[in-house]
Amino acid sequence: MSVLSVVLPAYNEELMIAKTCRVLRDVLGEAGISYELVLVDDGSKDSTWKEIQKAGEKDACILGVHFSRNFGKEAAIFAGLAHARGDVVAVMDCDLQHPPETLKEMYRLWREGYQVIEGVKKSRGKESILHKECAGFFYGIMSKATGVNMRNTSDFKMMDRQVVESILSMPERNMFFRATSSWVGYRTAFVEFEVQEREAGQSKWSSWSLIKYAFTNIVAFTTLPLQFVTVGGVICFLLSLLLIIYSLIQYFTGHAVEGYTTIVMVMLLLGSAVMVSLGIIGYYIAKIYEEVKRRPRYIISKIVRGGRENRSCLYEQNKEPDSSFLQK
Ligand code: UDP
Ligand code: MG
Repeated sequence: MSVLSVVLPAYNEELMIAKTCRVLRDVLGEAGISYELVLVDDGSKDSTWKEIQKAGEKDACILGVHFSRNFGKEAAIFAGLAHARGDVVAVMDCDLQHPPETLKEMYRLWREGYQVIEGVKKSRGKESILHKECAGFFYGIMSKATGVNMRNTSDFKMMDRQVVESILSMPERNMFFRATSSWVGYRTAFVEFEVQEREAGQSKWSSWSLIKYAFTNIVAFTTLPLQFVTVGGVICFLLSLLLIIYSLIQYFTGHAVEGYTTIVMVMLLLGSAVMVSLGIIGYYIAKIYEEVKRRPRYIISKIVRGGRENRSCLYEQNKEPDSSFLQK
């Protein structure tokens, strides 16, 4: 009998934990799917952890992982994948915006032999125009980088054990889960779902955190911005050639005194182009610096399984992924 692990990252979700666990138990129990729930408390400031402990006392199939501070959703998903023991692992938000019924359809597709089942949003829900445009730009770059249309992708997906192991074996710290799951390949199916309204609590994403998230993920996944620098350089060079020819003609025809405005414009334009380019390169260097420090992706402070807390072997569970394959 195969077991489905459901990974649920939770940050300040005290109002949702009990309900989400209950709904998942009902939906999966009814469908006759054996499951475990892996709830990762991403350093919440409210009583999310207490709620997870309480839920764990009621249901032995609940595993709770508590971070020492907020490490972000990607880290929480990664920790969940690392602790999941199922033959197939689903990842979903713990605010019930990803409809649990869809899990049944995903599970069916997994039984048919698909190894990655991606949840695709039918529509993007209510958003401001600015938000839509920015998201469009971000997903445009990401789609180019992955070769997959990322426009309506989500973090709602189900993966076979083999896929999970492939993702866990990747050593990078900054990982964009949504793109990584398509990057690894495997036999993939898509399931559409309608994003539900959040029932309680609030979204953790401000516009600023979304912008930061977009930049981090673009840099984590593609070197395209560095190519912008090269292309920008080539364009500047071509324009300079034109200007040089023009200036020489002016010089030889004896009209070369004026041109202050042109010089100021060219200097300012080139100066800003150089600075923006340096900024882009600097950002990549900063990310390389973060990666080479090889700090852990997250730090776990507590684990509960079936209501019992376990502090031993925490370090063991948070150790580096096995890198012996690199020597082969
Ligand atoms: N989340 C997390 N760490 C964070 C921010 C969010 O684990 O730093 C979780 C959150 O608890 C939820 C999921 O990520 O389960 C999606 O977050 P949210 O609902 O705030 O995002 P939205 O649905 O508005 O995109
Ligand atoms: Mg949400």
